[in-house]
Amino acid sequence: MLKIIHPVAGLIALLTITTFWLSTALSELFGSEAAAVAVKTAIPWGFFILFPAIAATGGSGFAWSKGQRRGLIGTKLKRMPFIAANGLLVLIPSALFLASKARAAEFDTTFYVVQAFELIAGAINIMLFGLQMRDGMKLTKWRRASFLKRGIAYTTSLIGKEEVAHGTVRIHLEKPKGFTFKAGQAVYVTLPALKEEDGKGRMRTFSVASAPDDADLVIATRLTDSALKRGLESLPVGSAVEIEGPYGDLTLHDDVTRPAVFLAGGIGITPFRSMIRDAATQSRAHGLYLFYSNRSAQDAAFLCELEQAARENPGFKLVATMTDDANWQGEHGHITREMIERHIGHIASPVFYLAGPPAMVATMAILLNDAGIKPEDIHAEEFAGY
Ligand SMILES: Cc1cc2nc3c(=O)[nH]c(=O)nc-3n(C[C@H](O)[C@H](O)[C@H](O)COP(=O)(O)OP(=O)(O)OC[C@H]3O[C@@H](n4cnc5c(N)ncnc54)[C@H](O)[C@@H]3O)c2cc1C
Repeated sequence: MLKIIHPVAGLIALLTITTFWLSTALSELFGSEAAAVAVKTAIPWGFFILFPAIAATGGSGFAWSKGQRRGLIGTKLKRMPFIAANGLLVLIPSALFLASKARAAEFDTTFYVVQAFELIAGAINIMLFGLQMRDGMKLTKWRRASFLKRGIAYTTSLIGKEEVAHGTVRIHLEKPKGFTFKAGQAVYVTLPALKEEDGKGRMRTFSVASAPDDADLVIATRLTDSALKRGLESLPVGSAVEIEGPYGDLTLHDDVTRPAVFLAGGIGITPFRSMIRDAATQSRAHGLYLFYSNRSAQDAAFLCELEQAARENPGFKLVATMTDDANWQGEHGHITREMIERHIGHIASPVFYLAGPPAMVATMAILLNDAGIKPEDIHAEEFAGY
């Protein structure tokens, strides 16, 4: 609900204040005195729309931030008091004063000084709301494509967890009844009872690493020093975990004549594990190529399982490459164009999928662009911090 209230209330607030601003400027520059009186008298009534909208935008944004106080969300939260203070301390008193002057037909110097002041304050709030919306769009970038699709919040529980690579855990959550997703999609995961606060919030985005038909919902993550990751690491079995989703459109294309080439960096393997498992259980005929880059074999989550899948499924080829592992009997170094071409040969019109840290995804996208791959054949998911 919050994700609907927040943008809708924000848009209502922006439109209302823009209407006040434009109607004031137009009526006083080009309209009659009667028009100016009508506008000035009407604006205080408009506050009954504007202020609930501002309160709903701020309140829903605060609740939705789930404890995050840094980054774009932090910047958005810091702007809200300025917007509210500008409204309460400048716009409301100015509008009431101007309405009473207009009703008394006192269009004198004081009226125009206060009017100029109100227009400047109004323009500042319009600009601040515009920045709020711009940042909100950036925050929801990865799930905008599926924004209008259902994304439902569920409370589920931790069934178990185990280490699947050095410093990487696989977390099994009970699959909530009615929760469905497509292989490759992601969910918001919130730990409602996080003990520590580090300003980074109680929520993170995780790709679902299990296939839609698997019994549990599996996510996998690298453990870091953030409060949320420490909370996940120490979370007792049975604890409540909130998920919301599914979101995202990093899902396998329908045309089985076109092979899929997955380029994964580190924990970016999660959506591809889901897609590879799903392709196997659904007997999808796509050719699947996975280039999986890690520092060492010990860091590569699900490596044994993927090697096993490649042995069992002739349609799936795994190319694991290690950047810092002298003992690795396979490819070494980062994924390169030469490496990709050497392994995929001349397969017909592949579709590329990239996932991993933003820098890795950006490098791979440049590599594919330089190789002449059409942008519509490159699907990328940056594991950015939102
Ligand atoms: C579609 C998608 C799928 C993802 N799938 C996975 C997955 O399967 N597995 C996985 O491990 N990760 C995944 N991620 C990334 C994941 O959401 C986390 O960002 C990542 O795991 C790092 O978490 P952390 O707790 O170590 O956070 P940190 O990197 O410590 O912090 C991340 C959070 O804190 C905020 N933050 C931290 N420091 C700052 C700062 N200095 N300034 C501003 N903001 C800051 C970020 O905005 C973010 O909310 C995915 C991300 C996306 C977008």
